[in-house]
Amino acid sequence: MYNPQVGDTVSDLDTPSMIVDLDLMEANIKKLMDKLLPTGVSIRPHLKTTKSAILAQKLASAGAKGGCVAKLSEAEVIAKAGFDDLLITCEIIGPVKVKRLVALYQKHRKIRIVIDSAVGATAINDALAASGIEEPISVLVDLDVGLHRTGVAAGEPALALARHIGGLKHLKIIGVQGYEGHLQHLHDRADREQQCLASMKTLTETADALRQAGFDIQVVTTGGTGTAEFCVTVPGVNEVQPGSFIFMDTDYRNAVGRFYGNSLTILSTVVSKQGPRAVTIDTGLKSLTTDSGLAECKDARYAYGVLGDEQGSLVWEEGTPDLDVGDVVEMIPSHIDPTINLHDFYYAYRNGVVEEIWPVDSRGKVQ
Ligand code: PLP
Ligand code: MN
Repeated sequence: MYNPQVGDTVSDLDTPSMIVDLDLMEANIKKLMDKLLPTGVSIRPHLKTTKSAILAQKLASAGAKGGCVAKLSEAEVIAKAGFDDLLITCEIIGPVKVKRLVALYQKHRKIRIVIDSAVGATAINDALAASGIEEPISVLVDLDVGLHRTGVAAGEPALALARHIGGLKHLKIIGVQGYEGHLQHLHDRADREQQCLASMKTLTETADALRQAGFDIQVVTTGGTGTAEFCVTVPGVNEVQPGSFIFMDTDYRNAVGRFYGNSLTILSTVVSKQGPRAVTIDTGLKSLTTDSGLAECKDARYAYGVLGDEQGSLVWEEGTPDLDVGDVVEMIPSHIDPTINLHDFYYAYRNGVVEEIWPVDSRGKVQ
């Protein structure tokens, strides 16, 4: 049976395999911590990128305080794997999910949730009341700061929701979340900064308005890889949620530049020759996503195209060394989070040798 082990060389691995350059990944973590920690703002990395309890732990060892997950089912898996200081950043709606949340909270009292509707708040409160759990769950009011994905509107709607939540015995407001996801990939740095500061104004003003209304707002959380450096300059913001910086992708590299390196690639094999300067590799839609454009070959002289579910093409200009059947190449994903969700394991290497193997714990956990 194929059973790759620590100590194998990268060239021993079958393909497609998801491989991580440990030197580059560790440098990314250090760069982020060195840049953001001195501001005093807490870093709660978003684990929707790595989907890994081991990586959550590594980030915590480097200075992060807890982690975020997108979905309840991610929280279930990451908490079970031993890392339970988690903020679930998506709304938890529907009787099945509410039941699952109560079961999770029964075992893991550090779980925090976000709420953007009165009906959502009431459902969770009632289920907690019925469970017999005394301790109220920590809630962040989810605020729309311009993404228009989730979040209550600033001003009176946010205050009205907070008052509603405040009247529910099993919910305790501890803060506000306002995620400006629409700005993360803006290429113009000055524009990204300016729009981010406007979103942060909405967020911090709402936090202040809630405080004035008597709420104990301790956490003001926001930010991603493209904006965290701006968010931390704003007085009143005290937590940021970057995720992709650890591995990066071509989309983020094109937007925010090369401060963080592309530390994760998909190892691929040339399986067929299709012309004098064209080959087929064994990575297609099932191993590299295309929502943010096409992946790139690490050796930029070879241009990638999708040939279907299982394969892609590489073509090159005359004068570039030919690729042949059996050659191995590395592909840089265009969008890191959904690409990782296609793979079972990370093979993390240094100097060509696999040093660690990490499961993608919450792979496929979309509920
Ligand atoms: N916070 C929230 C609520 C998100 O949805 C995301 C990503 O979509 C992030 C933080 C992290 O963003 P990134 O991976 O771009 O750093
Ligand atoms: Mn993403």
